[in-house]
Amino acid sequence: MNIAYYSCSVCGAQYSPREAGYVCPLDGGNLTIHLEFETSAKKPDPKRVLRSREPSIWRYLPLLPVNDPGFHGTPLRQVGCTPVYQPERLRQELGLRHLWVKDESRNPSASFKDRASALVAARMRMVHQHTVAAASTGNAGAATACMAASTGLRAIIFAPRTAPQAKVAQLLTYGARVILVEGTYDQAFELSLAASHTFGWYNRNTGYNPFTAEGKKTAAFEIWEQVLLTLPAGSERLRIYIPVGDGNILYGIHKGFLDLLSLGWIESLPILVGVQAEKSAAIANAFFARADTIAPVRAATLADSISVDLPRDGLRALNAVRESKGHYVTVSDEEILQAIPQLGKAGIFAEPAAAAAYAGLRKDLREGRLNPESPVLVLCTGSGLKDVRAAASAVPSAPIIEPSLQALEKVIHD
Ligand SMILES: *Cc1c(COP(=O)(O)O)cnc(C)c1O
Ligand SMILES: [Zn+2]
Repeated sequence: MNIAYYSCSVCGAQYSPREAGYVCPLDGGNLTIHLEFETSAKKPDPKRVLRSREPSIWRYLPLLPVNDPGFHGTPLRQVGCTPVYQPERLRQELGLRHLWVKDESRNPSASFKDRASALVAARMRMVHQHTVAAASTGNAGAATACMAASTGLRAIIFAPRTAPQAKVAQLLTYGARVILVEGTYDQAFELSLAASHTFGWYNRNTGYNPFTAEGKKTAAFEIWEQVLLTLPAGSERLRIYIPVGDGNILYGIHKGFLDLLSLGWIESLPILVGVQAEKSAAIANAFFARADTIAPVRAATLADSISVDLPRDGLRALNAVRESKGHYVTVSDEEILQAIPQLGKAGIFAEPAAAAAYAGLRKDLREGRLNPESPVLVLCTGSGLKDVRAAASAVPSAPIIEPSLQALEKVIHD
């Protein structure tokens, strides 16, 4: 599907595909991609998508701004189509009528970020770019490195020195050039932009490259297929709990639903609930203050994937929640850690940022912001294996015993 035009999310200026760069040259605003089906009478056929046998995001090609990238038989073809679970025990515990958890740890590099990096790899093929640079707290970098390894691109990843060890090991294993920056994610972000400019690298940064949101919107298409199409007629609108750092996942999912709405494939927008860590809550702060600009914070949450001083897609994530009639909720690091074993009891192993969404759902229920009759989906964005230290700190340690039955009996009866 071809791109009709780009629009600036701050000033509304429109750019043709030929003139558009990464962001609006007037104000640095994020660019939104508009596809031809929005304005043309010729619309893609939903039956064709629903009948597709492609088990990945590429089943939605008619709604994506890239050509089929090829690379069959590589991890690039295994991005998306992640499972949605209906954890009965959690549903009963929470007293909800419907609960789904979409497990994004099932993507090739074990986080939601593969969706964005796959689209970026497809775009790079179209514009004949061979080196991709990205700043990341870990997951976006791992996804970029994994997709680069799948498609023969060179990846250069800038991560804060404090990134969890597993994420750094994953980057190096995929063969990326890894630069650890003595500083914050925000500082790594600025350095990667300067480096891309200086060395002519293609830049994938979240909330900078307009194609990341186009990849992330595929989660909305899957939720449409997996959940919305199964909801009984007359149901309340689906509420989706999404962990928010830069805001690009939340905005991207909203964009996906806007696409479906403009096609007439859905009749109303699902309600989006953005969950931020109390110690990294720039967008939630703006929402609570009814502000139209986002003031940076000094992020200090242990949920590294949502630890952001200045959200790079904050404005669109703020407006998406407003437009969907949702809200923001903030959770403490303690609530985030507690949510890890709670999800674990349903067989889902989440990293702290992913568990934050579930913590937000629990807080909304506790504080009476959620009608238990509302259907709810929680997005579990990344695997617990990404940050084993955090998971270990959230559970009691295992006993160590002599290899004897007596020793076992002692601890078993404790
Ligand atoms: C990146 C990430 C998020 C947050 O996404 P943003 O687009 O930065 O809001 C949440 N969870 C995980 C696991 C992530 O990797
Ligand atoms: Zn602008």
